[in-house]
Amino acid sequence: KMKVLLVFDFDHTIVDENSDTWIVKCAPGSMLPDEIKNSYQKGHWTEYMGRVFRYLGDNGIREEEMKKCMTTIPFTAGMKDLLDFIGKHKVIFDCIIISDSNAVFIDWILEAANVCPLFDEVFTNPAGFDDCGYLTVQNHHAHDCTKCPINLCKRKVLEGFLENHLKPRVKYSKTIYIGDGGNDLCPVRCLKKSDVIMPRHGYILEKMISKLSQNLVPVEASVVVWSSGTEILDYLELLIKG
Ligand SMILES: [Mg+2]
Ligand SMILES: [Zn+2]
Repeated sequence: KMKVLLVFDFDHTIVDENSDTWIVKCAPGSMLPDEIKNSYQKGHWTEYMGRVFRYLGDNGIREEEMKKCMTTIPFTAGMKDLLDFIGKHKVIFDCIIISDSNAVFIDWILEAANVCPLFDEVFTNPAGFDDCGYLTVQNHHAHDCTKCPINLCKRKVLEGFLENHLKPRVKYSKTIYIGDGGNDLCPVRCLKKSDVIMPRHGYILEKMISKLSQNLVPVEASVVVWSSGTEILDYLELLIKG
């Protein structure tokens, strides 16, 4: 049985915002103090978010309030229609998320939108509330890729999924990778000729891919740019009609 694997990024792909930035809305005055804002070190986002969550905890922001805030995050235009469409065609599509957000945020948001069953697996930074009611987040994994932030290399995740998580007798005729960000470049470079990269129009992944082609190191997979979930839906519809 041949299936198509859909790989989704989360922030600025499924939702039209960065979930880690959105949570700041529930901080006092909807802003962070400068000492936290200035404490970010490149490639160490998870530790930075740890400090943000500690600050929220110190200011008495608890799970209920954070959940209420996170479930107001807007989905990208047409994305809910796309997810409905995929839900109706689960015989054809397997669907995973690989995201540098965290498990708690993604669960809340998918659950509130009633789309959890659609996703076969979600790969992200594990998170949870500790005994004091503080949200804590850990690195997804350790890896040796020099191009990616220390907590997550999406290529390693995707390669691992394709190697180890394949259900017996399920073969993917193609992988379609839908994303927008700089950390989506590493995984799309391992895609094959039969695969499809769908970078969001006007976002950094699209620019990085065209830069690669300018430098004559184009990616192997086809590139199909999208601006809304509806455009992705139209593409998938054509694909399954053959
Ligand atoms: Mg993104
Ligand atoms: Zn990498």
